[in-house]
Amino acid sequence: MQNHTDILVLGAGSAGRYAARAASSMGKNVTLVESGPFGGLCILKGCMPSKALLRPAHVFHLLSHRLAELGLVLNGEVKADISAIVRIKNSMIGEMADDALQSIQKNDRIRIANGPFTFSGPQSGHLDGQPVSFEKAVIATGSRIRIPAIPGLDRDWILTSDDILELESLPKSVLVLGAGPVGLELGQYLFHLGSSVTVVDTKLHWHPHVDRELGLSYINSLSSQGMQILLGARDERFETDGPVRRFIVGIEGKTHTIPFEKIFVATGRRPETESLNLHAARVDVDRHGHVHVDACLRTTNPHIFAAGDVTGILPVLNLATYHGEHAGRNTVLTVPVPVPERPVPIAIFTDPEYARVGLTESQARDRNIPVMAGRIAFGDVGKAIVNRQTEGGLKIVANARTREILGAEMYGEGASELIHIMTVALHFRATIDQYHEILHIHPTLSETFKYLIDEMTDSL
Ligand SMILES: Cc1cc2nc3c(=O)[nH]c(=O)nc-3n(C[C@H](O)[C@H](O)[C@H](O)COP(=O)(O)OP(=O)(O)OC[C@H]3O[C@@H](n4cnc5c(N)ncnc54)[C@H](O)[C@@H]3O)c2cc1C
Repeated sequence: MQNHTDILVLGAGSAGRYAARAASSMGKNVTLVESGPFGGLCILKGCMPSKALLRPAHVFHLLSHRLAELGLVLNGEVKADISAIVRIKNSMIGEMADDALQSIQKNDRIRIANGPFTFSGPQSGHLDGQPVSFEKAVIATGSRIRIPAIPGLDRDWILTSDDILELESLPKSVLVLGAGPVGLELGQYLFHLGSSVTVVDTKLHWHPHVDRELGLSYINSLSSQGMQILLGARDERFETDGPVRRFIVGIEGKTHTIPFEKIFVATGRRPETESLNLHAARVDVDRHGHVHVDACLRTTNPHIFAAGDVTGILPVLNLATYHGEHAGRNTVLTVPVPVPERPVPIAIFTDPEYARVGLTESQARDRNIPVMAGRIAFGDVGKAIVNRQTEGGLKIVANARTREILGAEMYGEGASELIHIMTVALHFRATIDQYHEILHIHPTLSETFKYLIDEMTDSL
């Protein structure tokens, strides 16, 4: 590569590709450095492969356990061919990674370079040993799997999310550490295909900000299918007795002993910053290694910006691309502009799904906002009843004074799609009274919002 580039983007994941495109569209020449295979976490080992596995697992579960609810009988056996499931997933992922590469290769202003890159100064570094200088840079190096230090934990027992995406035979029993999105989704994948699965998390109420009742109903709904979920874990340790492995844990004063064959560690990831020599670039990181950024996504070095998981703001794809694009633009502007705040919808793609956008009630109260909140169960919604999908619920939070909708959280069939209705409402800062004016198709699950908001506006 040339020794000088206008804009250096580190990492060709989602944030990096969006940053590179944005800077190039404003006339700059960009060098996009990637140290691994092209595509990034979402395409290669994250969102897409996990969802490609979840779909057949959910259908398998439905066919194996839930046909009677619909009055259907399966005359014969349904089998899950895990090798075929993984092979089909790999072929889809390969195509997606190729498409991502080709769309960057078409852009004359972006050159792809193979890393790794390390900084040697505020506007310089080495790429594969060669010195490189840059006008501006974006750090978008993402994250890597983190293995927690638990006494007695043997690395040979461990499966990571990367391993689960490639498994071609199922362990008999799996202990999942961590009830976050990755632990629940891939834990349920293994469970739906036939493993015995126990998920353990140290948090007592599943998640500190979510509505306690709704969050626990969601967790209960998952565990009612047979996947054990233990929250509020204390004094965790491992024990072995010959080939037998056991996890000993205290839950609300009671000791549980869980035998397992494999452990799926889903306790989070750490930022990929250690190898970058950020100190030489005068880029500060927090105690976990996340890059510090201001409202313009600028690091402590005014020539360098950062976006995506490496910032530790919220490790989701939609924010990585949104921030990537803004970081890319800010590298070109003479005076960088703060990134407009947007509602960030998130989802957990279990069966049933969980989704949320905006503020939860506790977050609104923490900000001293006067809150009005309403709830509705899917069991009160006609379409959920006729679909035999009554497990689920919705909570909406609004400002009690201005009546602006502040947030919504829900679980149930289609939650990851339905939540966009509230995302649009939040984006346009709709009030419950304005939403009340909107007509909905009957019967639909979307009517859940209408029914609840009608109730909140006291209009019926
Ligand atoms: C199992 C799983 C499922 C997920 N599912 C979802 C989901 O359903 N929805 C959702 O929103 N999010 C999901 N996520 C999270 C989502 O994948 C990430 O938030 C997103 O991909 C982060 O993008 P990024 O660009 O910040 O980082 P990455 O995509 O990780 O990109 C970083 C890139 O930098 C490269 N790199 C690292 N170091 C260097 C270096 N020194 N020099 C050059 N290049 C370097 C890496 O090889 C990588 O390609 C999931 C994550 C996991 C693990």
